[in-house]
Amino acid sequence: IEQHSDLVIVGSGGAGFVAAIQAKQLGFEKVTIIEKMAFNGGNTRMSGGEYACYNNWVQESEGIIDSKEAFIEDILISGQGRSNETLVRTLADHVLENAYWLRDEIGVQYKDEQSWYGGHRVARTLWPVGDGPAYVNTLAQKAEELGVEVIYNTKAVEIIMENGQAIGIKAVSDGNSLHFYGDSGIILATGGFSANVEMRQQYNTQWPTLDASIPTTNSPAIVGDGILMAQAAGANLIDMDAIQLYPINNPATGNYYFVDYARLIGNALLVNKDGERFVDEKETREIISRAAIEQKDAMIYEIIDDQVAKSMNLEEDYASEIARCLDQGVLIKGSLKECAEFFDIPYETLAATIEHYNEMAAQGVDTDFNRTDLIPIGDGPYLMFACIVSVHHTMGGVQIDENAHVIDTNGNIIPNLYAAGEVTGGIHGANRLGSLSIPDTVCFGRIAAATAYNEHLKK
Ligand code: ADP
Repeated sequence: IEQHSDLVIVGSGGAGFVAAIQAKQLGFEKVTIIEKMAFNGGNTRMSGGEYACYNNWVQESEGIIDSKEAFIEDILISGQGRSNETLVRTLADHVLENAYWLRDEIGVQYKDEQSWYGGHRVARTLWPVGDGPAYVNTLAQKAEELGVEVIYNTKAVEIIMENGQAIGIKAVSDGNSLHFYGDSGIILATGGFSANVEMRQQYNTQWPTLDASIPTTNSPAIVGDGILMAQAAGANLIDMDAIQLYPINNPATGNYYFVDYARLIGNALLVNKDGERFVDEKETREIISRAAIEQKDAMIYEIIDDQVAKSMNLEEDYASEIARCLDQGVLIKGSLKECAEFFDIPYETLAATIEHYNEMAAQGVDTDFNRTDLIPIGDGPYLMFACIVSVHHTMGGVQIDENAHVIDTNGNIIPNLYAAGEVTGGIHGANRLGSLSIPDTVCFGRIAAATAYNEHLKK
């Protein structure tokens, strides 16, 4: 079976939908997304949908001073010298206009409050109402309104090349082989490879070994398909060894806790099995993860006081998650004593840890771990939950230029082939900051569609 479209996009996550919407807005007639799962959204659906952006409207209303250069610097620092500065600057050039595009043209609703992620020097993260699911649903609805075709249960397996140029995608659906030709371009938007244990082990050079004992926060679909297809078509891969861990995940599932927003935005403590703090709770995910893995049984616990839970509406907003976690036996609500007994943590030590933390908070100095925003923690009842480390994000992937062209191993553009989102490498370098994934997918998703359109006009 064969089909011709103007643009064929592989993957219906954040990058794929944004590229499809932009392509339709520019005037492409037939835009087709191929999705291997029976549903859309990928990791984007599983995320909080957070969007880091300097000078955003919430910052303005809160009087927070930020700048484009500060945004760029934070990304470059986190990338430890490995980010491609041209790509980072491209992201910074577009991130604010893209925030308005999402809000005003696509209809994404944002909360009036924002969050502050580790590694960003100020709070600059917009947060959509309804998290990742609502964000993806809004994109999907817009795509549908514009007439984007989404074909589910269809797995791309190969980029069809002709005379050094990408012309289509070979896919498999229900045992049938299908050929999707993208006359004006093929956009890879298949995400990273966190759920591919073999690739993790192949590329990871650091401690700890990322074998199957370490779960992933990702959708099981995120196994590097697009990276491998692009590589087979001659694409250059970069930063493949840069694999990000995430510290606060449910031991029953490996997925992150949404209630962990309490730690990011409000206040929470992290303790180990001995009931002792072991890290600055506001540190980057990388530092907390590496500290967590070293604790007894690689198990840690987050403690949220009732006042924080109430002020953030946690029990209402995340009622289904909390109910599920109670069933799974990974979370409890109760007095400190009840929490300690439930998790078999020495109560005396835990109580002393909280008392000591509150004393430091009163003085304003964390002499143990140098945490800077020392907010005292109340006397309960508490929400307490067990956490393990998971593989969260892969920084590496297909090399692109600032126009989202895929670059081959000789440094040349592969004509007609574009990539956006986690399938690409180069933007985040050694470590992606929290809430920079969606800005990346939106920026390069839009650019991929626009470049394909400009080149189509020239033909
Ligand atoms: P990003 O954040 O970069 O947009 P996501 O993880 O949100 O990435 O989305 C990637 C999407 O690509 C997922 O919906 C996933 O199921 C889909 N996908 C991955 N590999 C393939 C493939 N071989 N064929 C079709 N779809 C794929």
